Amino acid sequence: MITNRQLFFQHLAQTTPSPIGIEVEKTEGIYMFDKNGKKYIDLISGVAVSNVGHRHPKVLQAITEQLDKYMHLMVYGEYIQSPQVQLAQKLAEILPENLQSVYFVNSGSEAVEGALKLAKRYTGRPEIISFKNAYHGSTAGALSIMGSEEFRYAFRPLLPGVRQIEFNNEAALNEITNQTACVILDPLQSESGLVLSENNFLEKLRQRCNETGALLIFDEVQTGFGRTGSLFYFEQSLTPDILVLAKAMGGGMPLGAFISAKEIMDSLMSKPILGHITTFGGHPVCCAASLAALDVLLDEKLFEEAEKKGKLFLEALKNHPKLKAIRQKGLFLACDLENEEQYFRLLEIFIRNRLVTDSFLFKLDSFRIAPPLTITEAQIQETIDLILKSLDEL
Ligand code: PMP
Repeated sequence: MITNRQLFFQHLAQTTPSPIGIEVEKTEGIYMFDKNGKKYIDLISGVAVSNVGHRHPKVLQAITEQLDKYMHLMVYGEYIQSPQVQLAQKLAEILPENLQSVYFVNSGSEAVEGALKLAKRYTGRPEIISFKNAYHGSTAGALSIMGSEEFRYAFRPLLPGVRQIEFNNEAALNEITNQTACVILDPLQSESGLVLSENNFLEKLRQRCNETGALLIFDEVQTGFGRTGSLFYFEQSLTPDILVLAKAMGGGMPLGAFISAKEIMDSLMSKPILGHITTFGGHPVCCAASLAALDVLLDEKLFEEAEKKGKLFLEALKNHPKLKAIRQKGLFLACDLENEEQYFRLLEIFIRNRLVTDSFLFKLDSFRIAPPLTITEAQIQETIDLILKSLDEL
């Protein structure tokens, strides 16, 4: 009989020559079980998604209850759907007063597209500034602002009027002018292996945006929902004009959002009307799941624990001779190895030892530790032991 593995290679679009290839049967919390019952630890939360763990019971309950009422009803923005309204209100409650209007979409890329369109539409300006080594998604607009010529080149022509400047380079801020609609960044550069801002760079960037009237967009698709030790990373720095969210937002279901002041957002409803259209954006089942996941984060104060848990990993691993450097923020760590080849060897050892990780798009010699925030201290110890064992075997 033809196996699922064979069908995977035959009929699913392939995006890398070496997919991880685990055949997952079931998940629970930090664990994934393959079809032979082997129990893996998800060190990456499905890339920043399962912050409340896989299949959190409260998320499952919210999904089931919503399934009993309705699923898709109508394209976004026409009907009053309780899960959307309740989630938007909850977000408005926890966000600052200039981030009170929420546009729900399907994914991080779509949220980025929406944010860029909104900034252009509101300011009437043609240019966009983003950063080298930044990733914001894979659709044409998001790809245009990606900080890597290698990834962009083959898909040209892309959006005009886009420039990438260097992160943490103060002089580069002069590229922001009164022609700039917006500056977009992930304020803690995730895909370059967790690069933090230095020397008040974010404050200087905010100031330059204020001087020129460019809108500041924070892409918190990866850093949002408790990952870095606060509910959103901007709480540790400064407030943007537009906030972009996705990934962990849906509690395991697909959901994204871009959020701004109502005055800014209202520019999507005239000249032309329907400035952004989405069929499934804000799907009621996803919004119900999202609200439940957010409640779990808030009730269990998982974001407050993230820093302490991250430090446990840091302390246990920082002196290992195979690790050249470790960067940590909340429960998000980047561990640098000697080179890319060593990373791929470690990946195989990890899989053997029941650990699943990933490198960073722009830093292939580094692996991440970003398990669900629900991980317990006993599970942290179990994980650390397996990581140390694997590094010793390297
Ligand atoms: N922004 C950032 C910072 C991301 O990490 C990602 C996904 N890795 C995206 C945007 C795109 O999100 P999606 O894959 O949901 O389109």
